[in-house]
Amino acid sequence: MAELESLEFGKSDFILLDEVTMEQFMENLKLRFEKGRIYTFIGEVVVSVNPYQHMDIYGKDSIEAYRGRELYENPPHLFSVSDAAYKAMKRRAKDTCIVISGESGAGKTEASKYIMQYIAAITNPALREEVESVKHVLLKSTCVLEAFGNAKTNRNDNSSRFGKYMDINFNFNGDPTGGHINNYLLEKSRVVQQQPGERNFHSFYQLLRGGSDDVLKSLHLDNDPALYTYTRQGATSNNDRSSHKAVLHALQVIGFTEEEIHSIYETLAAILLLGNLEFVCDGESVSLSEPLALTEISALTQTDPECVRTSLLYRTVATGGGDVIQKEHSQQDACFGRDAFAKALYERLFAWIVGRINSVIEVKNYNPVLHGKNTVIGVLDIYGFEIFDNNSFEQFCINYCNEKLQHLFIELILQQEQEEYEREGIVWEHVDYVDNQIIVDLVEQPHKGIISVLDEACLTVGNVTDTVLLQSLDQKLSQHPHYTPKGKDLNPNYNLLFQDFKRLMFSSCNGVLRQMWPDGQTSITEVTKRPQTAATLFKNSIVALVQKLACKEPYYVRCIKPNELKSPVLFDDARCRHQVAYLGLLENVMVRRAGFAYRQPYERFLQRYKMTCEYTWPNHLMPTDQEAVRAIVSQHGFDADVDYGRSKLFVRSPRSLFSLEQERNQLI
Ligand code: ADP
Ligand code: MG
Repeated sequence: MAELESLEFGKSDFILLDEVTMEQFMENLKLRFEKGRIYTFIGEVVVSVNPYQHMDIYGKDSIEAYRGRELYENPPHLFSVSDAAYKAMKRRAKDTCIVISGESGAGKTEASKYIMQYIAAITNPALREEVESVKHVLLKSTCVLEAFGNAKTNRNDNSSRFGKYMDINFNFNGDPTGGHINNYLLEKSRVVQQQPGERNFHSFYQLLRGGSDDVLKSLHLDNDPALYTYTRQGATSNNDRSSHKAVLHALQVIGFTEEEIHSIYETLAAILLLGNLEFVCDGESVSLSEPLALTEISALTQTDPECVRTSLLYRTVATGGGDVIQKEHSQQDACFGRDAFAKALYERLFAWIVGRINSVIEVKNYNPVLHGKNTVIGVLDIYGFEIFDNNSFEQFCINYCNEKLQHLFIELILQQEQEEYEREGIVWEHVDYVDNQIIVDLVEQPHKGIISVLDEACLTVGNVTDTVLLQSLDQKLSQHPHYTPKGKDLNPNYNLLFQDFKRLMFSSCNGVLRQMWPDGQTSITEVTKRPQTAATLFKNSIVALVQKLACKEPYYVRCIKPNELKSPVLFDDARCRHQVAYLGLLENVMVRRAGFAYRQPYERFLQRYKMTCEYTWPNHLMPTDQEAVRAIVSQHGFDADVDYGRSKLFVRSPRSLFSLEQERNQLI
């Protein structure tokens, strides 16, 4: 039994701590990490510490050991939660989700991959071809999304720069029939600029280092990333070349056509060439310093070169009287426009790739009458809290998202407990906890939340400056207990891309590119006066995500990053403590212990402890399992510490079990 696995490795469930204090929590976490036990339960939640080394615990044997077992029959593992989520889905026809959280580099994406692999391994025992192909595409999609959505950062060599929520659909047999991917807030600013030591998205280097000479030639590219402004900063890695092959293969397996794949490369090439465009100003007008690159960009995007030139140098504006005029950019505006265009090209490309994968994996021809209820397991791998020296609008969005998820976590964990007590007919006692609703409201409330104020400021005519914005935030929110007036730079909320670029791309003769820019159809006079801002779009997508999660039975993996050095041996106490605190893990233990720390079906309890009681050993003399359990409890004198549910024994303090476990160990 996992909870009482040898104490040499620490306690494998935090609810068994002698006292719930930060000190004891940290001591246990550290001891387990040092002993190579990277997973620990808090009830059904799995806490994971990134081992930063290969662990031999994900192979076929491990999968078999966890398959179909109960949570506490094996040491804590990602496979324990995966199996629990799968069983709930299959046995009780419940939609479930696995929420993986933690900061950058904590091991979320690796965890999500092991979870997917586990689910793939335990399904479709009959090896039906159509199911195998669905599984194959689901697994391959990860490889493609990582190429286009991941980058090397200072905190993680393969950092996901987007949030991902993936639904896997199952038929009544419990075999995957398809899926759907939602992506959130791709960090598109990375396309044009990276922090020192970081790289652009992997896809650019993979193409440059791995593309054949012929392909590169047709794309007007050279194979050296140092030649392009957008990739110059980041060093290439040895993997880029082999990854290029793997990604190409994955694209083909998923079903991207050769034409589509080439359009992807053309878009990447166009972005790189755009980045090299410079603008010169002769005092009067602004022009392009490199007209040749312009021809190449127009060839790659299959657009008219003259239109490319005007989109870069002018902006079309509708005058009050309904006329349309061309306004010349300043040099600075032209640079801004170029970078905004490059970012938008990449963002649309990414969204298109996700949509294209979805079109392949979406469940087709599913008839609930014929096929039974279609159930879902969702897997959420999303950026954790981020606090840098310089925080921008992106950190604001990410942290808001985490507050929302944290709120859901608290709500659902409590609700889940309550439901189990009701199911088992046990009286529920209220538990106090820190409710972060007030923070969520501060951000999202209509009319007076930060996002509203931000939107209003962005919609005012003329140039809103940071100062104006801060003033209006101070004005509206200074009374709020959690508002501290000190932010400064929230520019990306403008999300401004000149309409000219959208129309340019919609005029492309390449059907694939045109598909990415449907809004380029809108004529300049019709363009909505009040487009939604980035913050509002993000808020809406997060609200939708939370709704999706809230109607599913949740399972949690909480990832912790042990140190900043990617070291397998270093446990940085302060850093870990900080994460444990903001993930609310201690509270999680308290909630779990406030009622009954421990619960187990009568039958299993009996199996394990029957040898400690004369009424149950060597023969089971009681009429029911429940009564047999009562006899054991009574003989050991902890009647006051337990309650009897319909199918389970509930134990308040883990200590009762310790003594029982000790006795069992002496007897066997
Ligand atoms: P996150 O998605 O939370 O930012 P990742 O999942 O990308 O973090 O993990 C960062 C790195 O840590 C991985 O590239 C890998 O080197 C290492 N890592 C994470 N989880 C494991 C694991 N279970 N076993 C071995 N190494 C791991
Ligand atoms: Mg990740």
